[in-house]
Amino acid sequence: ALTAGIVGLPNVGKSTLFNAITKAGAEAANYPFATIDPNVGMVEVPDERLNKLTELIKPKKTVPTTFEFTDIAGIVKGASRGEGLGNKFLANIREVDAIIHVVRAFDDENVMRENNREGEFIDPMADIETINLELILADLESVNKRYARVEKIARTKDKDAVAEFNVLQKIKPVLEDGKSARTIEFDEDEAKVVKSLFLLTTKPVLYVANVSEDEVGEPDNIEYVKQIREFAATENAEVAIISARVEEEISELEDDEKAEFLEAIGLQESGVDMLTRAAYHLLGLATYFTAGEKEVRAWTFKRGMKAPQMAGIIHSDFEKGFIRAVTMSYEDLIKYGSEKAVREAGRLREEGKDYVGQDGDIMEFRFNV
Ligand code: GDP
Repeated sequence: ALTAGIVGLPNVGKSTLFNAITKAGAEAANYPFATIDPNVGMVEVPDERLNKLTELIKPKKTVPTTFEFTDIAGIVKGASRGEGLGNKFLANIREVDAIIHVVRAFDDENVMRENNREGEFIDPMADIETINLELILADLESVNKRYARVEKIARTKDKDAVAEFNVLQKIKPVLEDGKSARTIEFDEDEAKVVKSLFLLTTKPVLYVANVSEDEVGEPDNIEYVKQIREFAATENAEVAIISARVEEEISELEDDEKAEFLEAIGLQESGVDMLTRAAYHLLGLATYFTAGEKEVRAWTFKRGMKAPQMAGIIHSDFEKGFIRAVTMSYEDLIKYGSEKAVREAGRLREEGKDYVGQDGDIMEFRFNV
């Protein structure tokens, strides 16, 4: 499964947030085969459609789909120089599919900032730069290594080498300028080359401003938030606002208390739910449903996947023996009220192995065993 790694300098609120994620975590009984890794927090993906399907079908059981956050350990500063735990930091980032970059944006004189000087508690821009610079330097090292090698081969007019060399020539000066490679626009062919370079600063990123519990309902006036948003825009990245401390409190509440608490502080949903949906979106994920009387269930797939691959998410045998999918849209099922009515309206489809899945598809797979 794709995962988003939580990174940030010390004392920005990562552990507080990760604890909230773990406590809000998915009901283990629903996912007996999930691996247990202490650095992974698995949460259920909130989806109003699943509630509606449950009301309509009244199944014995409803199972949401899940998403995994990974807590990235290690030391940030000096990571690109390969010092001790810094190596681990970079190696861990290399393994995740997206980066959740937590930035401190709350004033609290009781919480020290890394390397703070007298009277200086918060500096979101400097914090972002510190982490990004380590990633940029690590990428520059990979690019420089390839550069020397590929330059030679490109002289022989080898097509692939020329294509790669062109991309490297595009990336190198941007990194040297202290900017992430995600600020560069690549066309489709270039993007394929970029992917093969396994860089850190091309991974999709979501900046998370950890604001004070008093301000989380009205973040637009916070100067730190403005700065973070301005910077994120230069990378075409999104910003999410949370208060890790508030999330910690929410994670200890029962569902009915939770709604009341959220309303009181002026939020529509918890930061963990919002973050889960944002990360899901960032990774290009979508949801399809299986809907029977025994079980209504949501499944995560990657946008662009075809029907057999979607079937393979449930079980590899479904993919191997795939014959076809019987499918309808969530909207049609809600509109017509039953599968039978959807069929009578001529909206139930039979799709083959080239069908590209759509978010909200309700799928039934036919396969040979
Ligand atoms: P980490 O080093 O990034 O994992 O940071 P921690 O989660 O340990 O948080 C560092 C300190 O900041 C702790 O004392 C937290 O209680 C405090 N903290 C974290 N989030 C908030 C917040 O939203 N508001 C306030 N006031 N303090 C917070």
